[in-house]
Amino acid sequence: MLAERAASSDAGEAGARLIDGKALAMGVRAGVARDAALLAARGVTPGLTVVLVGDDPASAVYVGAKERACREAGMNGETIRLSADTSEAELLAVIDRLNADPSIHGILVQMPLPSQIDADRVIRRIRPDKDVDGFHPVNVGKLLIGEKDGFVPCTPAGIMVMLEAHDVQLRGAEVVVVGRSNIVGKPMAALLMQHGVDATVTICHSRTRDLAEHTRRADVLIAAVGRARLITADMVRSGAVVIDVGMNRIPDASRSSGTRLVGDVDFDAVRQVASLITPVPGGVGPMTIAMLLRSTVRAAGRTVTPEGAGEGGAR
Ligand code: NAP
Repeated sequence: MLAERAASSDAGEAGARLIDGKALAMGVRAGVARDAALLAARGVTPGLTVVLVGDDPASAVYVGAKERACREAGMNGETIRLSADTSEAELLAVIDRLNADPSIHGILVQMPLPSQIDADRVIRRIRPDKDVDGFHPVNVGKLLIGEKDGFVPCTPAGIMVMLEAHDVQLRGAEVVVVGRSNIVGKPMAALLMQHGVDATVTICHSRTRDLAEHTRRADVLIAAVGRARLITADMVRSGAVVIDVGMNRIPDASRSSGTRLVGDVDFDAVRQVASLITPVPGGVGPMTIAMLLRSTVRAAGRTVTPEGAGEGGAR
């Protein structure tokens, strides 16, 4: 954890310090590589298999990044690419094979899936002890009741590491999470309300009556919505810590691609009000893959000792 500390850069003039997600992720990945080497010395090379169905270009980019990151950490990273017309039964058969293969410690099915496949049925088919995404109901339940031996979804797990690295005080703090998805908002709230973390959590969504009324109370504001610049400066309390999970492509004629990536937070304006803030890109995003690797090493470690191995054993 020490290696991950204080990865932030000064705003220079007035304004929030930046939480440098890239630097923090490199720290996590270095720890993962050390743990992977320890396991390899004991004859177990941690292995992650990603299953990609169809040819969604964004999914292909994410999957490629995960495979590369595995290799860089000394792990086995494999992608199984299936055509867009794969049936649910065919995909479930692939999962059954991966479940039974002892050399594969983590299984991830890249979402979204084509419409003929029921994503919930697929998630439920993955063995909970290989479900490094933490989406299986067994792992969701373990998170909620505070059992530490489950897997936690990677994005909220990464946000916890970011907050800890910056010594953000969560005990008794007002934390407002905007968004209630199963992959970000809900597990984020569950992590923050655990005994020992002790934040007071408010979760907002599209039916929340007055969003700004809630966000203005937040010591820590976490936006996971998918709406460009939904969170404006007048919605943020002075000195708040702001975590921007959103990834939104907006038109930008000055770029050769014609688009640019922005978060859910109006960054330039909110930076003038907040004390700490994550940029997009370079904030939460890099942490997600790092935490996926950490979970895979932990799954592999459990095949050697029940507690897992080294840093990868910690949640
Ligand atoms: P999602 O499943 O679409 O959930 C969005 C949530 O935002 C929903 O709970 C929705 O409310 C709520 N919402 C929508 N409009 C709102 C509004 N005007 N006011 C308040 N709440 C509103 O999205 P997700 O999967 O959680 O992802 C959220 C964003 O994070 C996306 O931009 C995604 O690309 C990004 N993301 C980034 C990473 C990363 O690694 N950086 C990882 C995952 C996701 P309802 O429930 O009422 O519909």
